[in-house]
Amino acid sequence: MNSKDPHDYAALAQNIKQWAKELGFQATGITHTHLGSAEQQLTAWLDQGYNGTMEYMAEHGTMRSRPQALIPGTQRIISVRMDYLADIDDDPLKTLKSPNSAYVSRYALGRDYHKLIRSRLVKLANKIRDEIGVFDSRAFVDTAPVMEKPIASQAGHGWIGKHCIVVNREAGSFFFFGELFTNLPLPIDNATDDHCGSCRRCIDVCPTQAIIAPYRLDARRCISYLTNTLQESIPIELRPLIGNRIFGCDDCQLVCPWNQYATKSGEPDFMPRQGLNDAQLIDLFAWTEQEFLDRMAGSAIRRIGHNCWLRNIAIALGNAPTSNEIITALKSRVDHKSELVREHVTWALTRHLI
Ligand code: SF4
Repeated sequence: MNSKDPHDYAALAQNIKQWAKELGFQATGITHTHLGSAEQQLTAWLDQGYNGTMEYMAEHGTMRSRPQALIPGTQRIISVRMDYLADIDDDPLKTLKSPNSAYVSRYALGRDYHKLIRSRLVKLANKIRDEIGVFDSRAFVDTAPVMEKPIASQAGHGWIGKHCIVVNREAGSFFFFGELFTNLPLPIDNATDDHCGSCRRCIDVCPTQAIIAPYRLDARRCISYLTNTLQESIPIELRPLIGNRIFGCDDCQLVCPWNQYATKSGEPDFMPRQGLNDAQLIDLFAWTEQEFLDRMAGSAIRRIGHNCWLRNIAIALGNAPTSNEIITALKSRVDHKSELVREHVTWALTRHLI
């Protein structure tokens, strides 16, 4: 029997995994639509208000945890993994320890991944269609109503670590996921066991103590949320803890022992742009709004806008050692048109002038 037989779903599943590999995905897993305790955990998390201003996480109700409610007829979810560490000789820990340098989360150094992964998922669906004819499919990449982590974990990509990120024993955790919802009754893959054991490195290293208990993250304290999702003023008590992290934070992943197995990506899109893997805070702070928009075209960073960009860098400059250059740079923005920027610049200047 070959995969042209629409009933030979085992062979088709094998072919799908091979095609996904040829399309640049490092691994593919298939799971059903029952997400176990994910719904209960999500509800409890939302009830505590840990989602902060991410209201969209509550907006879709049980559709988030019930893929069949989101896309009726869905029987299986094909979950694909794409590794994103750029193929460069780079020491993120060194950048973190250089207070005049800007630290940008490794996932955001290159081009935004959404379009890339979506287009590959569409190609994968087309390939399946070429093989078996018409079938239903819908591609998702980091989409609000899809619980990509429980789906990925259930599809065998790894376990959800104590930092609430999927970890794989052979590949670490520096990867993106995408999903293809389908009506095909493909055989499913097994979930993997949790291998965190007694380790708690991610909990202990978190600069803002955002991992309030194993497997529980208070997003309102998470530097990723504060610097790339929150559009408002960043709580004053957290600012000194943010250090030089101007967009996202990788600390919990950098210390995870499983990331010694993380491999580099060959995707040109993930190569750093604008020297963001090792840029100086002062240089980035000098970008005009137009420069920011031009230089960050095609980057996930562009979405936060120039004001939040300046807000984040102002905090990092406030945390850097005092120098005339930093004070001059901050003063150049003290009359900025945005109250958000002015307030953070004033805070940063106060750190240097007292
Ligand atoms: S750092 Fe340790 S506790 Fe955290 S996810 Fe990795 S293995 Fe699990």
